[in-house]
Amino acid sequence: MNKDNKDENEGQVVLIVLGPPGAGKGTQCKMLAGVLRVPHISTGDILRDNICRDTRLGRGVKKIMEDGRLVPDDHVMNMLIERIEEGDCAGGFVLDGFPRTPEQAALLDLCLSEQEDKKQSSRQLVVRLVVSQHCLLKRLAGRQICPVCQTVYGIHQHQPRTPGKCDADGCSLIARQDDREKTIAERLRNFEEQISPIIAHYAKHGCVLEIDGDRSAHEVTSGILRAIPEDWRAAVS
Ligand code: AMP
Repeated sequence: MNKDNKDENEGQVVLIVLGPPGAGKGTQCKMLAGVLRVPHISTGDILRDNICRDTRLGRGVKKIMEDGRLVPDDHVMNMLIERIEEGDCAGGFVLDGFPRTPEQAALLDLCLSEQEDKKQSSRQLVVRLVVSQHCLLKRLAGRQICPVCQTVYGIHQHQPRTPGKCDADGCSLIARQDDREKTIAERLRNFEEQISPIIAHYAKHGCVLEIDGDRSAHEVTSGILRAIPEDWRAAVS
């Protein structure tokens, strides 16, 4: 596929990156979106942006997110459909933080098949980042975020050039509200509960890649690119 001329006739590439909080999904998704030249869609970022802008959706989900619970499927689904219907998603997109439940996975399939009815075919590929508990807790404890552009920094990976300041806009970095110990435990529990049925959903289509996420971001990226099957390789080479 010619990446520079991706258009609707070539169909959509939909790359889904799954992993627990702290697995490095955001970092990997940004990189993969850059390689594939498609947008990176993070449902968590869209929700946080709504909270920052104090929208109706933002006000409705603020407490849920602070507690580390999952936002109801209908809210997330409406928000996602609105985003993937934008023109820049015609060639595909990389999904970060979605699906979080098997119901969301089924709703996404439905939404993509409706697009296929409109002669837009899509190919889904799922990357599952497998990370040890020890590594996750270490990463989450040191994580900071820019409140303006949402860039995430860590104490072990992707450190800011000036400690405490965002490289992109110089804003003071803050800890994420939901990166506190109690909330982290709730988010990890949610993930563990939902991941098996989600993987079972995609395994039926034989499109799941399991990647060791305990390594450096760079090594994980190389691992994902090496694992991408032939028909996808053309799109990323
Ligand atoms: P993330 O940035 O992906 O870690 O998501 C942060 C929080 O946003 C989660 O703990 C949930 O409260 C909410 N969230 C993000 N994506 C979803 C989703 N697909 N379904 C439900 N809640 C979500």
